[in-house]
Amino acid sequence: MNLVEVDRKIIWHPFTQEKTADPVILIEKGKGSYLYDNNGKAYLDLVSSWWVNIHGHANEEIARAIYEQSMTLEHVIFAGFTHKPAIEICQRLNSILPDPLKKFFFSDNGSTAVEVGLKMCYQHYINRGVNNKTKFLCFDGAYHGDTVGSMSVSIGSGYHDKFQKLCFPVISVPFPETWFGDEQVGKKEDESISVLTEHLTSGGADSIVAIIIEPLIQGASGMRMCRPQFVKRTVDLVRQYDVRVIFDEIFVGFGRTGTYFALEQTECVPDVICLSKGLTGGFLPLALTVTTDEIYESFLSDDADKTFYHGHSYTANPLGCSAAIASLKLLTNPSTQQSLKDINESHSTHLFKLQNDHSDIIEHARIIGTVAAFNLKDGTKVKNFKQNCLKNGILLRPLGRTFYLLPPYCTTKDELDKVYATIAEIVNSF
Ligand SMILES: *Cc1c(COP(=O)(O)O)cnc(C)c1O
Repeated sequence: MNLVEVDRKIIWHPFTQEKTADPVILIEKGKGSYLYDNNGKAYLDLVSSWWVNIHGHANEEIARAIYEQSMTLEHVIFAGFTHKPAIEICQRLNSILPDPLKKFFFSDNGSTAVEVGLKMCYQHYINRGVNNKTKFLCFDGAYHGDTVGSMSVSIGSGYHDKFQKLCFPVISVPFPETWFGDEQVGKKEDESISVLTEHLTSGGADSIVAIIIEPLIQGASGMRMCRPQFVKRTVDLVRQYDVRVIFDEIFVGFGRTGTYFALEQTECVPDVICLSKGLTGGFLPLALTVTTDEIYESFLSDDADKTFYHGHSYTANPLGCSAAIASLKLLTNPSTQQSLKDINESHSTHLFKLQNDHSDIIEHARIIGTVAAFNLKDGTKVKNFKQNCLKNGILLRPLGRTFYLLPPYCTTKDELDKVYATIAEIVNSF
């Protein structure tokens, strides 16, 4: 039996209908923007390996940092103990996050970072003696993870319908997704704000703990983008009602939208920000939930009951922290910052032209930072399009009718020129 056959026999893959799925591809190695399978075929990784990879595969600086750390201290219990890599990554993040976000709570994946954020805000009110705040606001199409709490606030994503009865009830608001040349955007935003206002007034806000939002881009529901001013209007509005604000930057953080964090473009500061995915450059699972002094201090008490009783076995794993430090050093490097701009420019040069040339096939072209997306008008062409790309060594993973290009930051202009040329050829053949 070859390895793929063994895999087929004993492994259950995520988000996969094992009965009908195409055979898995056996990846042997990765370097820079490329993955290589067991036959030596190269694939340009335009999904950045499920959005976690930012500096390319097998980056030597990150690999070395992990190796060196593992020869000194691989892990230690994080209650009652600490270590330098944990302190250093928080200090470094502290210097690029807005000032009020300065208390760092570790966990080990995006979903747990969200659970921590939800629980922190919830208990924050309990600790203050406010017991009637039990509900969360979220957006239609939001995706915040696959654990039960994070599923609850993602109920409109379509991924979790079956689990509805298991989830706690939430209040959802329409998300004003927009694209290049969208003339309805102002109207959509007004509608969202009006629905939100309705929920907040008429006494509703008394029962609401927090609102959770993926700022600028709803990733999993199809790279649905909104304007920064909408996020600001939302935050400014809920702030008038003593409702906390959670930014889920698990996907959009660490340069994806062109700035270190999406919040910079929205000109607002949440009470909580959730970080994971790009945090370690795509090397190791690690997450942070960062909050304010105000929330942190509401847990300080002589009463043990006010403690935040939450933690995971691998909290603040030193290997993950050392990868995160190395990755953040690379991210703040001027040459990486230039790459973010170059990728954005490549997207802009090619994507709008592609749509203009093929407006019968492609619609809703949209770009923020390093993320470019478009929809195929004809959903029956999705599979064919994806397979054609794969045959040409381009790894894309559509979400419904949406295709998106999400390159690691080391991807060059030439590589993207070729990708767009190939895509144009495939579209031409339709
Ligand atoms: C991926 C993702 C999560 C969940 O992270 P996991 O590490 O997969 O649990 C949460 N929120 C957003 C916005 C994400 O993109």
